[in-house]
Amino acid sequence: MNKFCLAPENGLAIFPNGRISPCCAYDDVEDEMPKHPKDLMSYLNNPALKNVIHKQQTQNQHPGCSKCISKEQFSKTSQRQLFNKYAPFSPGIKHLDLSLSNLCNLKCRMCNSFLSTSWQKDDQLLGRPVHKRRDFSMDWLIQNQAHLQNLETIEMKGGEPFMHGEYLKFLQAFESQLPNISLRITTNGTTIPVWINELKKFKQVRISVSFEGTDEIYQYIRGGKYSFQDFENNFKTLLKMFQDSPHVEFKPMFTFQIYNIWNFSLAWQWATQFKNQFQDQIVLERFTNIVFKPTYLNPQLIPHSLRLEIIRELEPLDHTNLINYISLMISPDIENNQKLFDEFKTFTKTLDQSRNENLTTVEPRFQRLFDAIF
Ligand code: SF4
Repeated sequence: MNKFCLAPENGLAIFPNGRISPCCAYDDVEDEMPKHPKDLMSYLNNPALKNVIHKQQTQNQHPGCSKCISKEQFSKTSQRQLFNKYAPFSPGIKHLDLSLSNLCNLKCRMCNSFLSTSWQKDDQLLGRPVHKRRDFSMDWLIQNQAHLQNLETIEMKGGEPFMHGEYLKFLQAFESQLPNISLRITTNGTTIPVWINELKKFKQVRISVSFEGTDEIYQYIRGGKYSFQDFENNFKTLLKMFQDSPHVEFKPMFTFQIYNIWNFSLAWQWATQFKNQFQDQIVLERFTNIVFKPTYLNPQLIPHSLRLEIIRELEPLDHTNLINYISLMISPDIENNQKLFDEFKTFTKTLDQSRNENLTTVEPRFQRLFDAIF
């Protein structure tokens, strides 16, 4: 398998803990990549990065690149393949992946405090590592702007990027470059920043709005702070703000997990109503993300009989990714795993008590799942 990758030379990913690496898929298993380097040149010249480049050029697998290798083994598109679209090689950072802070107003059940400050209390309760709030300095990026003149794409993630006031500084400093850059931003869609109109200055924008369900299940998964109605109202406001900007598109993104196994149809119907209304501004390709970690929230965990029932419910849907989705659902990888299922039950019960919620009240069909004998 070809190991060549342009990410180490053309990519830059920044994480809330200050770590910098070639891309968001790179796994710093040996903890070698610099945290908060003095400047961009010291990162580009550091031996850990040079080692990644050397390994790839000599067709050796670097342990940090295992996610790409395993994705490709399963015929899925890897970050490596996405980066290699920049071939033939020319120097300079072309893609910037920004997760500048773990500040977030939600505590979605599949998340943790590394990505959301609202998770700190529950992480402590569950005996997991508790991550403090961390912010990467926007000034660092602005000071290194001279080395970021070749940018073609930017990806903004979180925490919740719409809560990050410092993006205004970044957008103002890079204003003259924005018409040459395509932006992708992922938001939970519950808040609208003061800098929202600045996004219109980019060449092209895709706003991915994540949601995990409709009605009560939405509120249950997302930690109870906002109702589904609040979310929908905000989503409609965002759509109206950009209705005269055809270069800005919205992508509702459903994060499929064990808690919303009965909610997929409703979520799909909810998204398609906007497609009918806003046509080209709504993207429904790759509507579904699947939670693989934590493994005890992976929807593949459910028993076989229930799985077939859910697949039957989904068959009438006009969903382009349905075939892939169903094949994932029938993959028996982790089916009948009693240990994982016990972890799911303990996790659910502990959070329900702490958050004063009850899964079987929100969706009574879960009682059948709890009663299931593997
Ligand atoms: S092979 Fe994958 S993980 Fe490694 S640097 Fe390239 S894109 Fe990143």
